[in-house]
Parts: sequence; structure tokens; C-alpha cells
Amino acid sequence: MPVETKTTCPYCGVGCGVIATVGDDGAVTVRGDPDHPSNYGRLCSKGSALAETIDLDGRILHPEIAGRQSTWDEALTLVAEKFSAAIAEHGPDSVAFYVSGQLLTEDYYVANKLMKGFVGAANIDTNSRLCMSSSVAGHRRAFGSDTVPGSYEDLELADLVVLAGSNLAWCHPVLYQRLAAAKARRPGLKVVVIDPRRTMTADIADLHLAIRPDTDVALFAGLFSHLVRSDAVDQNFVAAHTTGFAEAFAAAVSFPEALERTGLPAMQLREFYRLFTQSEKVVTCYSQGVNQSSSGTDKVNAILNCHLATGRIGRPGMGPFSLTGQPNAMGGREVGGLANMLAAHMALESAEDRDRVRRFWQTPTIAGRPGLKAVDLFQAVAEGRIKALWIMATNPVVSMPDAGAVEAAIRACPFVVVSDILKETDTARHAHVLLPSLGWGEKNGTVTNSERRISRQRDFLPAPGAARADWWQLAEVGRRMGFARAFAYERPAEIFAEHAALSAFENHGGRDFDIGAHAGIGSAAYDALGPFQWPQPAGRAEAETRFFAEGGFYHADGKARFVAVTPADADRTNAAYPFTLNTGRIRDQWHTMTRTGKSARLSAHIAEPFAELHPRDALEIGVAPAGLVEIESPLGRAVVRALVTDRQARGSLFAPMHWNDQYAAKARIDALVPPLTDRVSGQPASKNVAVAARPF
Ligand code: SF4
Repeated sequence: MPVETKTTCPYCGVGCGVIATVGDDGAVTVRGDPDHPSNYGRLCSKGSALAETIDLDGRILHPEIAGRQSTWDEALTLVAEKFSAAIAEHGPDSVAFYVSGQLLTEDYYVANKLMKGFVGAANIDTNSRLCMSSSVAGHRRAFGSDTVPGSYEDLELADLVVLAGSNLAWCHPVLYQRLAAAKARRPGLKVVVIDPRRTMTADIADLHLAIRPDTDVALFAGLFSHLVRSDAVDQNFVAAHTTGFAEAFAAAVSFPEALERTGLPAMQLREFYRLFTQSEKVVTCYSQGVNQSSSGTDKVNAILNCHLATGRIGRPGMGPFSLTGQPNAMGGREVGGLANMLAAHMALESAEDRDRVRRFWQTPTIAGRPGLKAVDLFQAVAEGRIKALWIMATNPVVSMPDAGAVEAAIRACPFVVVSDILKETDTARHAHVLLPSLGWGEKNGTVTNSERRISRQRDFLPAPGAARADWWQLAEVGRRMGFARAFAYERPAEIFAEHAALSAFENHGGRDFDIGAHAGIGSAAYDALGPFQWPQPAGRAEAETRFFAEGGFYHADGKARFVAVTPADADRTNAAYPFTLNTGRIRDQWHTMTRTGKSARLSAHIAEPFAELHPRDALEIGVAPAGLVEIESPLGRAVVRALVTDRQARGSLFAPMHWNDQYAAKARIDALVPPLTDRVSGQPASKNVAVAARPF
């Protein structure tokens, strides 16, 4: 008899429910789960092709030490000895973990506990730093917590949906399908797309604002000013639930300044401001075009300011909405998987919170200050300050900015451990110890999507070879480092139960993240756990789906903060590098293609690396349509196919970040991106890169 398993898609932050069926012949098929409240049965092309990506080609099936097969005991003992020796000789800050939004929450929890609670340093960062750390920082500045106030259904209930820096159609396809269906049912629902490039998402837009790259702060600071002058401020909400309004207004920009900085036609800017002012039910979604910027956190707060000023937050069809890129970026935030966060949304900078977590974990030590964020972490590796590095479920040699320098740093690091499912990733090649992890369909745990919904990923395939879960690998190393009692986990349900208990520990409403209802959950209940949105404190069966309609922010005074934001100069081009390069994703590939690259169907969508450029730019520099174009930044060069299209604004290029030298020589786009970061969040500016372009 075919066996069905309810699980969750491992790709984007929409977090769609999937039903996987293993037939009598062992063949796997997938379909959308009609009962999952995030997708109601829908899947996109990537989710539909999941069964095509789970073969064992290229898998690591046994631990390896310096390229030779080893036992688990030998490999884990070596890892524990090397980390312990580095800590003993150079201190706890000499070791680091670089993890991933692909990890399950249980993996993330154990990694964070080991590093912050037992090594005693906070050098654990994640590729989620590249994805949504500016949203985290913006939320914490405004709300006092990292809280997404709304739910997906708000997009369907809104009268106006603003999509800022989001190619929803390609990057969150099922959410796009929900929005497009809502608009088809109710044509009065207006959609505004803010993006320098006319993406597929703009096809359903009533208004597309092709702003100059990185001018979002000016756009929304201008909107803030317009809202005040149009008498659209909710004075009661502002007076009762916020502080800092006057300072934010003083920093807001005039209409002419917004016009000049964004480069928009006056009629378009006026129309956007009119739509936002006159539509009570507004949701503003934002993604990597906002976050991946040297002004990412200010962009987030410029958006939040407009929602706080109008009191449009936490009510049906209203609110700012951060769209996370990865399947478990949110779960990582919940366990404190970033170098500047503590578990269960507690603050690393708070002595009280540190003491609370330390007592809960029953450890004598806990990290006392923030650790190294991704770019700084690899810089520290390059400078020889990191003696032992453990990379899990990510491929920084392709995905980090200045990827060539990151590769050189990893190559020179004295001891590198890589846990992954594939043997030949660009990063795995540099491992001294390679540990075989479980892939989708084999691993077992939870993930949290963009609307705070926790869903189970369940195993329905046997572990291949000697592969083991990432949480198990971490726990075994923790035991071997002398922390046997703290890492005595036997199954993921125990880790989830502890995570839930910590979220409720001494939490009397002082934290947003509380899933105390699941503290002490047993294996049977964990196996049966259906998708639910947090918070879900003890004693409450039904989760609240929205935050902040009546205030209740998480700063000490219960009020939200307006943040005074001022636009920075956004143009980085010069005579030598006259084009602006924006990086991004395509519809049918995921990250560095280690899984989606296995599917012929997905690869048929766009078969090779490319750069979009405007027809007049192509003509001027002599690049023929479908010819090869060489893109150069001060850090390196890439050669890709030229896709000449007027979807691209003049003076700018778009190139996806997926391809690496394994698929096509000289296609590693992140090798061109400088390691420039947002000063608040530390998120790299993966867009707005000054480059030269020429025929190849
Ligand atoms: Fe998976 Fe995202 Fe597609 Fe849903 S929208 S099927 S989560 S990739």
C-alpha cells in the first residue's frame, strides 16, 4: 500500500505543506497539502519537482577525514578534540559555527545551545544573515521584538498590497498565486510593485515604481511626510502606543526630494502616495530588495514608520510584512541562531536574559557579547583568528559576498568541518572533516515560515548510508566536549519540548515568542503535531494570528518607536564601473542549485547563467542579444549570457546568484559583490554593485 506523509517544502519562506507518497515500488510523488493553511494544496514548480531531487547521486554516505572514510566515532571525536584544543589555547572566540536557514529548528537549537551556552562565545551566524537580518533589526528597533505582526490572509483581505523589493512571483510563488487569485476575485484590490526591474510580479501590478536602486528610504520617508500633511495620521494610536513621532517627521523628506532621489515620474509618485493614504487596509510586503542593502534596516524602519503613523498594524488586511527567503529563517531567529541574538527572542545584550537562559540550560557560562556576523566571521577566518570552523547546510564559497576571498579564507583555516548532504559542493571540497547529513524526506523536525507558522518536516525515506541528523552530530560533539548531560537528546521531540519550555520560562508576557503550550510535548504528540502559528502559550489552544492592533509592543514602556531615517546617497557607479548590478533569484532554482540543479525540468526553465540588460545599453556597449557579456567589479569577473530586455532599467544589470563554477565557468556572481554591510544588521548589500559590462 502506498504510504502518505505530511511534511513541509524545504525551499522558500512560504512554507507550503506537502504530502509525499511512497508507492509500493518505492517511487516518491508529491502534491500540495490541501489542509495546510499556508498553501491550501498549492505548490510551485520547485515544490512540485521535489521528488526529482531526492536521488542519492553525489551524496556523502560516510564521514570522511581528509578524504578517507572514517567511523562516526573517529570523526566526532576529532571534531570535539580540535574545537576543545582551540578553545583551550586561544579562547572561546577562536571557534565558529556558520549554519543555515535550511537547518530544522531542532538542529538550530542544539547548535546555538552548544556555542552560546557551553563554548561560551556567540560566534554562530547563519546564511539567514544574508536574507532577513535587516528585518530582524528593524523589527527590534520599532517593536522591541522580532515580530511579524500579520498573516498571509492579510494579503487577501487588503485593499492595497505594496510589494517592495520583492519578486513575489518567482521567490514566493504560492503566496503570489494567493494574491493573484484574490485580485482576480476582487479587482478592487490594488497592487503596487516597487522594484528597479519590471519583474513577472509587476505583471499584476496596478502601479510599478521602477525606483533607482537603494532609494526606498527616500520613497517611504517621503510617504511618511505626505501622510502627515494629508492628515492621515492616526493620532490616537500614535499618542497611546508610540514614541519618537516628531523626530521621525523632522527627518522625513519632502515630495521634491523623494522625486529626485527615486527618479520616478511625479505622476507615479503622487499616485502611490494617494493610494497608500486613501486605502485603510494596506499590507506592505518587503523582501531582499529592502533587506540586502547597506541601508536595509533604515528601509525597514521607513516602512514600519508609515504603518505605525496610520495605526495600520495587526488588524485584518493591514500591516508591514517581512517575507523571509528561507524555509526556516524564522525558526533560526526563534532559537537565537544569529550572532547577536539569544534563544527564545531574548536579548544577548540583556544581563537578565543571559542569566535566565544560563539558569535554564544549567550551564556555568554563557556568551556575554555578540559574536561575529557572517561577513566579519569570514574576515576573522581570513585573518587567522578562527582556528576551528563548522559549516552546516550551506555553501558560502558561492553565496557569500566576495566569494573568492571567502573560499581562500576557508582553504587556509586550520580546521574546517562541513556537514552537508552532497560531497562535491564548492565548500565541502575544503573540509578536513566531512559529515553526512540527512536531506529532505529523511530528516525530522520543525520549521517556521514567514507568517510565524510552525510546521513539521517529517521523514518518509530511510537515512542513506551512515547519514545522521545535524542535531545528532552537534549533540555528539557536545557530549565529547564534556557536556554529556546538556546534550543527552535521543530524538527531536525532546529538543522541541525543551525549546518550547525555554520560550515560556519566566516569560510573563515580556516576550512575543511563547510556545509554552508545547513544553514537555511527547513523541506521539510531536509526531502528530499540525501546523500552528505562534504565540501559543500554555493553556491556550488557539494561537493569536496578529500582533499590536491595541499596542502592546515589547519595549519596556510597551510603546513602539518611530525611527528617524534619512536617505543615503545610493549611486555607487563611476567612470570605470558605470553599471549597477542587482543580484537575485530565478523561479526554478534554489540557492546554489545543489538540489534543484538535479531536476532536468527545473533546469529547463532557464538553462544557463545570464544577465539582463536594457536594449540601448546592449547596443551602446556592443553586446548582442544572446551573446556573451563579461561583468567586472573590482573583485572579479563573470561571463554570462546576455538577456536583452526592456524589463531592465537603463544603466543597470540583473544577474541571478545561483550558478557556480561547477555548472558554468566564471558564473559565480557573488564573487563580484563587495563585502559591504548594513551598519545596524550586518546584512550584506548583495544589490547595487558598481560594475563594468562589455562583450566577451
Ligand atoms: Fe516550496 Fe516556496 Fe514553492 Fe511553496 S512557494 S512550494 S514553499 S518553493
